[in-house]
Amino acid sequence: MQKQESINIERLQKSLLAGDIKSLSKAITLIESNSPGHFEASKDLLNSILPYTGKSLRIGITGVPGAGKSTFIGTFGLLLIERGHKVAVLAIDPSSSLTRGSILGDKTRMEKLSRSENCFIRPSPARGSLGGVANQTRETMLLCEAAGYERVIVESVGVGQSEIELRSMVDYLMLLLISGGGDELQGIKKGIIEIADTIIINKADGQNINQAKISAMEYSSALKYLNHYTEGWDVAVKTCSAIETTGLQELLELTDEFEKVTKENGAFEKTRNEQLKEWMDKLFLERLKSKFL
Ligand code: GDP
Repeated sequence: MQKQESINIERLQKSLLAGDIKSLSKAITLIESNSPGHFEASKDLLNSILPYTGKSLRIGITGVPGAGKSTFIGTFGLLLIERGHKVAVLAIDPSSSLTRGSILGDKTRMEKLSRSENCFIRPSPARGSLGGVANQTRETMLLCEAAGYERVIVESVGVGQSEIELRSMVDYLMLLLISGGGDELQGIKKGIIEIADTIIINKADGQNINQAKISAMEYSSALKYLNHYTEGWDVAVKTCSAIETTGLQELLELTDEFEKVTKENGAFEKTRNEQLKEWMDKLFLERLKSKFL
């Protein structure tokens, strides 16, 4: 029985590394499984693929519900594919727009993207505590990297704890906002603004263009008084329309620039190392706690 299991894992690892989508889905289902029998198998699988991970650019997208995250990912993802990348799209929390039950809505918003053979969308992290779900998303991200996805987009809802978890697992974080959020909202956003690498005012189309530009200027000046997350990177505020796809090309170029600048100045590797350490500490404490209980 033991032998059978390990042979399967070996086979799964091989087909996963070859980029087989069915194997990728199967591997994710295995790591999401709560069955004790699957625990060892998923650990073996993760260990075996670790040397093949880490090569993607991990992109986080957060923002309040309705900001346009799904629509944005739908069009931005296609641009990344046009550039020759394989793109994976994951969600970190069960309340994200990818997972909150509006499957039909998301299908239409990401329909074209989901039809591309170079895109893999995994919309449903298993339920449970956020820490548990976030761990699964992190491991899913590693599986996607092993399967050859060079751009992994992780979506989360920017209200509460989930965007902090998101920040701790991505290289580059885009915060999607809409103009005219009101004073109350601005207060909540301060902490989130400080963890963003790029701030995007979406829905800059139709009669909203000027308002979006004004909001962008306001955020730009507010940024001068706030902390930044990534060393040596100046946070930019941009406007775009995910529906009309205006401004997205510029955002794509900014993403490339971020990768180039932070790899050259060492911030990329430093952040990754810190994130890994933080994750290991967390896993260790969780393991210890479960053993104790
Ligand atoms: P999410 O909850 O953040 O994922 O937001 P959705 O992508 O589901 O979008 C919420 C609503 O905003 C939908 O009705 C979209 O059609 C609309 N929307 C998204 N992006 C834009 C945009 O760039 N311009 C306009 N006018 N509407 C948009």
